[in-house]
Amino acid sequence: MKRSDYASLSKYPEKLQVLFLQYWKLILPVLLIIIGLLVTFTEAGHWLISKGDYSNALFTLLVIDSVILVGVLAKLLLNYLGDDTPKWMSYLTDEFHGARWTWKYQEAFDQITDLQPHCVNCKHDLKVVDGEYPEKMVTCPSCKSMVSRFFGSYENYLQTIRDLIKQKIRKNYLE
Ligand SMILES: [Zn+2]
Repeated sequence: MKRSDYASLSKYPEKLQVLFLQYWKLILPVLLIIIGLLVTFTEAGHWLISKGDYSNALFTLLVIDSVILVGVLAKLLLNYLGDDTPKWMSYLTDEFHGARWTWKYQEAFDQITDLQPHCVNCKHDLKVVDGEYPEKMVTCPSCKSMVSRFFGSYENYLQTIRDLIKQKIRKNYLE
């Protein structure tokens, strides 16, 4: 089974719980009547209320309790295994080219948006200013530090940083 299958499987007890809470006023009397009829009119019912060295009903209750306990433990395990949120989704900041970068993802790890550099010294947003043509500079308007230089468009420079982020995700999270 795939991990997502485990995740959807682990939701069944919750669905049953919701159903039971909605209809318990209906379910409970019907259950009691069925149990009453079974106990009175069937072999198993007679066995249940008869007494040996131990109470058969108590023994049956213990078995049911054990089954429920195993079910609860299995659900906890499935919840743990079923957490199929990719780890890279929490990788949202790093340092590249002397700046602290933050970003978000759309659907996939290679859809990086809202990429923004911050100053490592004073945390201010960094700005791009013209250097000696055709060079451009990434600088901090607050503490005046010059963080990095690049050529060409700022969009191309952002793509360079995105590529570094994707490389790191592939190396640290996808291998
Ligand atoms: Zn600064």
